[in-house]
Amino acid sequence: MQDQNECLSNTLKRKLKEFLSQGRNKFYLREFVEEAHITIVEAEDFFLPLLKKNEIEGSLEVRCPSCGASLGTYKKYLDIPEEITCELCGEDFPRSDDFLEIVLEVKGKFFRPQEKPIEPNREKALKIRT
Ligand SMILES: [Zn+2]
Repeated sequence: MQDQNECLSNTLKRKLKEFLSQGRNKFYLREFVEEAHITIVEAEDFFLPLLKKNEIEGSLEVRCPSCGASLGTYKKYLDIPEEITCELCGEDFPRSDDFLEIVLEVKGKFFRPQEKPIEPNREKALKIRT
């Protein structure tokens, strides 16, 4: 069981690095879950410790249930107004988990690409040449 968790964690770290190498240091939790083929619970287990260590910053983006417009991001759930009116389509809707996207932004240095990326293939090629 422990090994499995360890393995999943490493897989997700790799996935996160892949996101970063594509310049995606800010992404929706939903996107990550879909692309890593994991469950929300597995994603939470992985991200919660990183959120606590401030490696990653989380925020909440309010999305209009009618037209899908992004209506601002908030740090805390309770910062979101209880009643929201969409600026685009005029839809009124209450504050709810259903109309939120969790946004994750990587802050920590841990996951930043190294300044000198190790290129094992090139190293090998050099060795062959000498
Ligand atoms: Zn709308």
